[in-house]
Amino acid sequence: MAVYAAPGQPDSLVTYQSRYEHYIGGEWVAPVKGQYFENVTPITGKVFCEVARGTAEDIDAALDAAHAAAPAWGRTTPAERAVILNTIADRMEANLEMLAVAETWDNGKAVRETLNADIPLAIDHFRYFAGAIRAQEGGLSQITEDMVAYHFHEPLGVVGQIIPWNFPILMATWKLAPALAAGNAIVLKPAEQTPASILVLFQLIGDLLPAGVVNIVNGFGAEAGKPLATSPRIRKIAFTGETTTGRLIMQYASENIIPVTLELGGKSPNVFFEDVMAENDAYFDKAQEGFTMFALNQGEVCTCPSRALLQASIADDFLDAVVERTERITRGNPLDTDTMIGAQASNDQFEKIKSYLDIGRQEGAQLLTGGEPDDRGGEFSDGFYIRPTIFRGDNSMRIFQEEIFGPVVSVTTFSDFDDAIRIANDSLYGLGAGVWSRSGNVAYRAGRAIQAGRVWVNNYHAYPAHAAFGGYKSSGIGRENHLMMLDHYQQTKNLLVSY
Ligand code: NAD
Repeated sequence: MAVYAAPGQPDSLVTYQSRYEHYIGGEWVAPVKGQYFENVTPITGKVFCEVARGTAEDIDAALDAAHAAAPAWGRTTPAERAVILNTIADRMEANLEMLAVAETWDNGKAVRETLNADIPLAIDHFRYFAGAIRAQEGGLSQITEDMVAYHFHEPLGVVGQIIPWNFPILMATWKLAPALAAGNAIVLKPAEQTPASILVLFQLIGDLLPAGVVNIVNGFGAEAGKPLATSPRIRKIAFTGETTTGRLIMQYASENIIPVTLELGGKSPNVFFEDVMAENDAYFDKAQEGFTMFALNQGEVCTCPSRALLQASIADDFLDAVVERTERITRGNPLDTDTMIGAQASNDQFEKIKSYLDIGRQEGAQLLTGGEPDDRGGEFSDGFYIRPTIFRGDNSMRIFQEEIFGPVVSVTTFSDFDDAIRIANDSLYGLGAGVWSRSGNVAYRAGRAIQAGRVWVNNYHAYPAHAAFGGYKSSGIGRENHLMMLDHYQQTKNLLVSY
């Protein structure tokens, strides 16, 4: 057990500045209009820094820098870029605890997650794409006796990236690592709720990249995100966020005929077949752990298993076990490594989740545990904490159909295999899903039948860099992670040569 000192305390690993600028052309640059916004830590609900408030003028400056850097960066070899990505990973690893504390303070999530998952996964992402780009090969094929086809990979040029607040450093890395590996220059807009930890990351690693290859413009969606996404000076827009915003991004992209990658919302079903139950058994224990994943990262995960589907024959006994287990989730100081659930990322999100707790009650769902804010007392009493909540109801209810994005799971029952698949697929979304059965046959068939880009079978919430991730239906377009991500950041050039 360890308790990290909060930024601002004398022995903290992180010193947050009181003010942050944009990061453009390798320099810290004040906003053209001179405006800043306040950044709050959800842990205490207090402002801890102010951040440059970007506008179209700042986006233009960042695009100038990116266009200036793109040609030379695009001509570097995969081997040269791989060395840089690996060096970024090494420097992050050497500063793992500092980055973990910075991320926890900005976002509110428990430090055990940032230490053991978010930052290590981000590091591995840079390493994975350093390897992937070196392994990538072009193609050569004989078309006729005197004609040959060459296929080359080329960077797109300058790309725009817009990310949400739930995994600030990891979401930035998911986008930056493949785009850099492929040789693109980037303008990135972080979420306005959590800009600071990414800026701390770039204070740490910015000097490893040529100036202008990565540019960061902070600010709000309408003021900074829209000018980036609508700009005719980008060759692609990659977006992670809400489905409603994703629709807008696609409209913007259609004006410039540029590709989009959209990683959007979810309402993921976690399906438990009746053979999971047993007395004192390691598999059943793992399945219960899989159920409680709804509270991981305070439920602020796009693939949060926010709908649990239990076979009716085991529902009551299963729920007795998981309610008790949910009540044992350790709540405390998010900077304490024993704490399992931290603060919701913003006051807006806190209020939104509370409104869904009311909606669940009004709809007549049965509240099994939680259902209220979690006053952690003392310095945390103004923080944004919610108790892990289990509702039991029907899949037609709003708490089953709408993304709450909090530590709230809505449980319903199914009669047999077909009924499970019907309920699982009765959703606008198709991002993640879980399937739990000791029968390989049942698990495999369910995994194939559920309409989702990622189905965890007998586990939940692993995110390896080399497994493709993305949504069906309204959960998005394209995939992230895996080798195939490189295709999203490259043009294919074909030379058909006669001789
Ligand atoms: P959001 O759509 O409100 O904001 C995301 C980003 O878009 C922010 O940086 C915001 O400033 C920007 N933005 C907002 N309006 C814009 C506009 N008109 N033009 C350009 N940019 C604009 O989403 P959020 O609330 O920050 O994030 C939570 C959502 O993200 C959830 O729906 C969650 O499921 C989703 N998410 C998806 C994945 C995935 O991989 N599929 C991963 C994480 C989060």
